[in-house]
Amino acid sequence: MSHDTSKSERFFHQAADHLGLSTRMRTLLLVPERDVKVQVAIRLDNGDVETFIGYRIQHDSARGPMKGGLRFHPEVDEDEVRTLAQLMTWKTAVVDLPYGGAKGGIAVDPRSLSKAELERLTRKFVDQIHDMVGPDTDIPAPDMGTNSQVMAWFMNQYQAHHGFQPACVTGKPLELHGCEGREEATGRGVVVVAERLFHHLGEKLAGKTVALQGFGNVGSFCAKILNERGAKVVAIADQRGGVKNAAGLDIPALLAYAQKNDGVAGFPGVDPCSNAELFASQVDILIPAALGGQLTAETAPTVRARYIVEAANDPTTPEADEIFLQKGITVVPDILANAGGVTVSYFEWVQNRSVVHWPLEEIRNRLEQRMSAAFDSVWQIAQDKKVSLRTAAYILGIGRVARATELAGVS
Ligand code: NAD
Repeated sequence: MSHDTSKSERFFHQAADHLGLSTRMRTLLLVPERDVKVQVAIRLDNGDVETFIGYRIQHDSARGPMKGGLRFHPEVDEDEVRTLAQLMTWKTAVVDLPYGGAKGGIAVDPRSLSKAELERLTRKFVDQIHDMVGPDTDIPAPDMGTNSQVMAWFMNQYQAHHGFQPACVTGKPLELHGCEGREEATGRGVVVVAERLFHHLGEKLAGKTVALQGFGNVGSFCAKILNERGAKVVAIADQRGGVKNAAGLDIPALLAYAQKNDGVAGFPGVDPCSNAELFASQVDILIPAALGGQLTAETAPTVRARYIVEAANDPTTPEADEIFLQKGITVVPDILANAGGVTVSYFEWVQNRSVVHWPLEEIRNRLEQRMSAAFDSVWQIAQDKKVSLRTAAYILGIGRVARATELAGVS
């Protein structure tokens, strides 16, 4: 996905105007601290050598060590990683974690590699960047195309250079210093903020209809928890196709089917559904939970949902955001809606550093509290300043980072 960084900075400037930030402070906040691009060459199983390009962009550390996912996807490029690194800085500030923001990735289709090749790729990438990351500097986590297994290889290779350091990466398997509830965290957080939105509106999430794009880590847990809380998921699309049923999809059956069949396409007894149909569904809530840049000047006018909850990172272009504002569609922005993942990553890091293990119920309660508090703060700013939830979230996040930057000073 090619990103126009100046476009995504429009959201930043809208909030910076409200905060009255100077041009110098804006530049200080926008320019990444470090921007690294490395060659990741590995031997394939057939003996050939293949070269990939890896990125790690460390955007801002004013509030603490930098934190951000590692994405393996063919469309990863420098602009995309830079945009996502910046989003992490505002996101960690919105949920008030003691972190800054970073992001990384490798331009690769992980499904085209064998497990052994993927392991070699991960280890080689760690060899290239281990000096610039670590528990006190920059802590990667899973994102699109990576999972707990990749994080386990990451930790093991990092430890080959630096000794026992389980807090060097989060999203690890439970058996290897991982955290209860990390896998479900982003999806659960999305549902918590949706529920909080309806609480403030004097309505209920139960009974609402939902269309969901993406059925990977985030999308599948979103669907599962929405279903548990009484919402009706009526359309789901992923990379290989989609399904819809106005009476509501059977989520437990669909979860089992998608795991066996590498996606939802072909699920029996329901109608197929394209991405375009999904965006135009007559539903209460639309949840993009796949790629960025999906809701654009072309697709936004077709949207009929009343609410959009951004589970994916950067799914809405500034043009589409303007269209939603004019149509009276309420958007819960990514830097608030999908912050559940980094929040539970923070819990994992805290446990690793104190060598303790918290039970699942404690993780869920702490997550619910953090996400609800963040939503309430953003809601209050939106009411007070009469701005969208996105601008309010940016005001909260950027304001916190700007204050930390000012207080620390520049040495
Ligand atoms: P994933 O790789 O597990 O799943 C991605 C899903 O998107 C898959 O179902 C895939 O089929 C679908 N998809 C890909 N291309 C598509 C297309 N062209 N049309 C329709 N569907 C398509 O990734 P994930 O971890 O679930 O991440 C999804 C989004 O959530 C990303 O934007 C990611 O940055 C964001 N996010 C993830 C986390 C996390 O903890 N994993 C945290 C915050 C934000």
